[in-house]
Amino acid sequence: MPFAPKMFEKILIANRGEIALRIQRACREMGIKTVAIHSEADADTKYVMLADESVCIGPAPSRDSYLNIPAIISAAEVTDAQAIHPGYGFLSENADFAERVENSGFVFIGPTAASIRTMGDKVAAKAAMKRVGVPCVPGSEGALPEDPKEIRRLALAVGYPVIIKAAGGGGGRGMRVVHTEAALVNAVNTTRAEAQNAFGNPTVYLEKFLENPRHVEIQVLADEHRGAIYLGERDCSMQRRHQKIIEEAPAPGIKPRLLERIGERCAEACRKLGYRGAGTFEFLYEDDEFFFIEMNTRVQVEHPVTEMVTGIDIVQEQIRVAAGLKLRYRQRDIVKRGHAIECRINAENPVTFVPSPGLIAQYHTPGGPGIRYDSHAYNNYYVPPHYDSLVGKLIAHGDTREQAIARMRIALSEMVIEGIHTNIPLHQELMNDAAFVRGGMSIHYLEEKMAALKSIQSET
Ligand code: ADP
Repeated sequence: MPFAPKMFEKILIANRGEIALRIQRACREMGIKTVAIHSEADADTKYVMLADESVCIGPAPSRDSYLNIPAIISAAEVTDAQAIHPGYGFLSENADFAERVENSGFVFIGPTAASIRTMGDKVAAKAAMKRVGVPCVPGSEGALPEDPKEIRRLALAVGYPVIIKAAGGGGGRGMRVVHTEAALVNAVNTTRAEAQNAFGNPTVYLEKFLENPRHVEIQVLADEHRGAIYLGERDCSMQRRHQKIIEEAPAPGIKPRLLERIGERCAEACRKLGYRGAGTFEFLYEDDEFFFIEMNTRVQVEHPVTEMVTGIDIVQEQIRVAAGLKLRYRQRDIVKRGHAIECRINAENPVTFVPSPGLIAQYHTPGGPGIRYDSHAYNNYYVPPHYDSLVGKLIAHGDTREQAIARMRIALSEMVIEGIHTNIPLHQELMNDAAFVRGGMSIHYLEEKMAALKSIQSET
């Protein structure tokens, strides 16, 4: 009998917050039943109630709930779910989890454990990319050795400034910039110790520190039948402490020919590496050149900007290819329209960035042409202190970048979130910032701007 893949009837969503709701919506559209899992802190949330079934998997702290692998597998067993969608964060890039899911008889909605393992180790990921012809940031070509003399030699060969990075790092942590040879060995040792502590892996490597790059990433989708396409790029250069705050598609001012070439390289890399699922190749872009930094093997927070310009539902495609189906699209089917920008609305002080959990006393969400708002929050929703501070993602789409910005400004002005601090004022400031409006700023722009604002504030 020929292999005839069947769509799932029930999926367990191993996540919380806006992405849990996002995945739930994709499932409902596809006629798939959903199981929400939740910690005690998330029991009364709207998205849990909207799911067909829900299972409490433990107390509030993530390690006891959203990171509790046996509890999640048991929840899938008792609810007869066939597949598990990990969302982003939590266990989404944990190869052991993917393996446990598959060994327990469920489908992991994501790449194979082997792919996750390779890409989760940045040294291995860079080596794999080099093999398949994806350009990388010049660097140490592997883990740094113990010998200080050898480390100095490698740094000198790359040229200062360099950045020391943890092979197992993530979330913008485990990195240190070094400007002089005198500071090098100390920096390597400190980063090693931190990496061991934070990621359980002391391996570090070294890269050229690019002084004024932009962060431009390529979204890919791949199936098990050698189908692999790229859905264009996102510019995620507006960052603070290496964390993205605003993302947009397309990336302003980059030659289409260059973007096409790098996109094709990424799709080809997926075919050569046997990659399956959604994925993102992250690059630094400087002087018309792309340099690979890492690959994310999951759906990303910023995926909606790509969805808005391509009209493709990335989460639904993830589910389809996990069920063994072919992608619904070929490269020539991908037609991009207009421009989309996403502002991450975080529960935090807009200046100090200190998290601001608590009760949302007043809540009004914007609308109108080209506006999409992905959020699990509502009036009287309590933002728990235990998790990420993301409350929602406001996405504006327009025929042009100018129109997307104009729509974003209006949407931000309509938005009301009272009772907690949010970074809405920062987004408003940025949507009116001359450099942002021009587009194409480097990854350092936001921090420099914040520093300038602070010094003005302290003078007055
Ligand atoms: P993480 O996995 O923690 O997100 P990445 O390797 O993706 O780490 O890097 C995150 C961010 O750190 C990048 O978007 C960029 O701002 C900065 N960064 C990383 N590598 C370099 C480099 N070689 N030069 C300059 N900035 C870098």
